[in-house]
Amino acid sequence: MLASEAVPLAKTGGLADVVGALPIELARLGHEVRLALPRYAGIDSKAAGLRKTATMRVPWRGKPREVGVETGSIGGGTVPLICIRHDPFFARAELYGEGGHDYPDNLDRFVLFCRAVMEACKEPGRPPDVLHAHDWQTALAVVYLKTLYRKDPAWAKTRALFTIHNIGYQGTFPVLAYDTIGLPWSEYTSERLEFWGQLNLLKGGLVYADLLNTVSPTYAREIQTAEFGHGLEGILQMRKERLFGVLNGIDAQIWDPGTDRHLPAHYSVDDLSGKKVCKLALQQEMKLPAREVPLFGLISRLAFQKGIDLIVDVLPKLLDFDVQMVALGSGEPQYHAYLTSLRERYPHKLAVSLGFNDGLAHRIEAGSDLMLVPSRYEPCGLTQLYSLRYGAVPIVRKTGGLADTVVPYRPDARSSATGFSFEKPDPEVLLSTILLALEAYRDKEEWRALMMRGMKQDFSWERSAKQYVELYERAMAL
Ligand code: ADP
Repeated sequence: MLASEAVPLAKTGGLADVVGALPIELARLGHEVRLALPRYAGIDSKAAGLRKTATMRVPWRGKPREVGVETGSIGGGTVPLICIRHDPFFARAELYGEGGHDYPDNLDRFVLFCRAVMEACKEPGRPPDVLHAHDWQTALAVVYLKTLYRKDPAWAKTRALFTIHNIGYQGTFPVLAYDTIGLPWSEYTSERLEFWGQLNLLKGGLVYADLLNTVSPTYAREIQTAEFGHGLEGILQMRKERLFGVLNGIDAQIWDPGTDRHLPAHYSVDDLSGKKVCKLALQQEMKLPAREVPLFGLISRLAFQKGIDLIVDVLPKLLDFDVQMVALGSGEPQYHAYLTSLRERYPHKLAVSLGFNDGLAHRIEAGSDLMLVPSRYEPCGLTQLYSLRYGAVPIVRKTGGLADTVVPYRPDARSSATGFSFEKPDPEVLLSTILLALEAYRDKEEWRALMMRGMKQDFSWERSAKQYVELYERAMAL
């Protein structure tokens, strides 16, 4: 498995959570997995037990480059880790860029990484069954497998699975940089690596992989449409028989209201009393009146993708009702300013924390009755999975992983519901969904049943890992 990030070593987003958890779960199920990452400066070499084991020369524009290979492990020694060390490329403050700008040599960096992994993981007589790459940064490994290494006995039998975590990020580069990747120009066609006059690495992964998946079944269908496909919908339609959706899991140890170290009290489906304590404590922490009132949570990147514009429209109307809301987020400055000014207008109803605060995110999940997740698109989404587990009933837009994980409540269909959902990205529709939820909240018995159903859902990594094993087996049978 190759990726550009994995918890706990290097993280900028949800990709790291998947890559940090999936191989460990696969190993637990009895599979042999090796994980390859770039050796960023920020990686804690002690945590991974990294030590230098080799120096290699990697083909590079006709003049090989020397890279270091460091080996260690994650998952308490269960998953061997290979780090590719090349300090001029990877010993930097960040993973992909600084100050809002991508590093200008990102193409060079990930070309070298992918090529080095292909060389470093050769074991004569022991070809891996499957190469599993994630997102544009490692898509080239799939391309190399099917081109440069197609006849290499170390790789000839290996199948490729490519996972798309967010199709909005494609790794596009000017055609002038094409020679960097070390492939003949015959690969630069509109069926392969070319995309609107540019080199597109993600497209390479989509075209060359034996199988494809994304992180929810609904997002797998959505990206085959112009609305969600970011221009790659045509290819995905052509490959739809090979495209699957596998929901991400959650770390059930870190996100467990029964043991969560960030919480002032603990609770579970068998005893919900601790949730009341968490709610009171959250009201106190956020300087809201401590009283019984429906409490809404919002934990989100403050970005258009997350439907924050819908929330901005709805909030003044919502806050006219007898409710409270705690919002935690960071992102676009106009949303920061708006939430701050609204906080001044409704100091007894709205609390706002701007910035990234992991502990507070846990306490909001535990202290809230309802969680707002109105994303415009959402490949999988984690917030609503935590909300289900913590009994903060989610109100979601019916898209991507949100559609696949929340069973919507309707007055005529309540018995299997776990939350509320709406389809049209329109503030009025969001508001009427919220009002439906507030009505349900008034019926204490009904609300309890709704919460408990959510808390009992299984979003464990074991379930997801078993689905990945099915994909690996399917790829091997091709
Ligand atoms: P995305 O990766 O697109 O931002 P996800 O729902 O998949 O969305 O994951 C977001 C994760 O980040 C969740 O675990 C959520 O709790 C957390 N999160 C988002 N914003 C903040 C914040 N400001 N402070 C703490 N945690 C946050």
